[in-house]
Amino acid sequence: MRKLTEEIALARLQRHKAEYQTHIKLNYEHRAEDCRTCPVAGSCCTDAHFVNVHITRLEAVAMRETLQCTPRLDETARRRVYQRAREAVAKYNLRPAKDSYAQTYACPLFEPGTGCLVHRRAKPAPCIQHGCYEKWEDVPPAAIQWRAEHRVEEWNNQVYGAAWAWLPTPLWLTLVDPEADAREFARLVREWSARKSPTNTNPLRRAQGRSRNLPVVR
Ligand code: SF4
Ligand code: SF4
Repeated sequence: MRKLTEEIALARLQRHKAEYQTHIKLNYEHRAEDCRTCPVAGSCCTDAHFVNVHITRLEAVAMRETLQCTPRLDETARRRVYQRAREAVAKYNLRPAKDSYAQTYACPLFEPGTGCLVHRRAKPAPCIQHGCYEKWEDVPPAAIQWRAEHRVEEWNNQVYGAAWAWLPTPLWLTLVDPEADAREFARLVREWSARKSPTNTNPLRRAQGRSRNLPVVR
């Protein structure tokens, strides 16, 4: 497999996410509720019974870079985001486990009064795709999200080999936190790298893909 530097992959990721976001905005979002006038804005990001967004290592690095350079955060507010991520990991018991999609949490990237702190530069695919639609037929097809996630997986493989996984966003934020103790991350990297057959396809997508199949009538 052709290798990529992290820098090039990050540039591609950002370009790709921007195109994906524009596509959803132009073709679907006008049929969804307007988030700017939503009376419960933010509840979709902080509903700890609902959010189970998972991201990859490359996306976590993109989030860290975004948090680092956004003018909306000073150093204290930036540290607060990582602190919220740490609290979410502890409170919701988020772990790099096989069943991590069953783990839900309140997203630490939601800042009251500001919204999603990575909206423009590092938003996860499920968040780009998400909206409140009245009619099922207006909802963007899941295949668009799957294609986006598949490309993200390819770039992760090209940069990190097997040394990455789909994990809940708060967990990844604690691992890439510039002030974190790097030992836990190093341990996971060793574990992932030692896998005989890395299973780095988003397991939720695999399951949804299977469930779309029609039953076989014998
Ligand atoms: S996605 Fe839905 S719940 Fe969330 S802010 Fe937009 S309209 Fe409100
Ligand atoms: S990443 Fe942004 S849009 Fe997604 S759940 Fe977190 S705050 Fe909401």
